[in-house]
Amino acid sequence: MIFRILITLLILGLGYYIIRMVTGNSEYKKCQKCAGKGYWKATRGEKDKCDVCQGAGKVSRR
Ligand SMILES: [Zn+2]
Repeated sequence: MIFRILITLLILGLGYYIIRMVTGNSEYKKCQKCAGKGYWKATRGEKDKCDVCQGAGKVSRR
């Protein structure tokens, strides 16, 4: 019967870990300047790297 308790704790721990992973990802938000693409179209049609997010398309929430 001790195994059932251990498995329950393991599942709870795993759930907590997944929640932490999801919360960690939400520390970043989509870059407002390039709308999450990491670049924007320059006047002559070429792609210009976004200087706000350095081409990542997301910025830290700080
Ligand atoms: Zn950007």
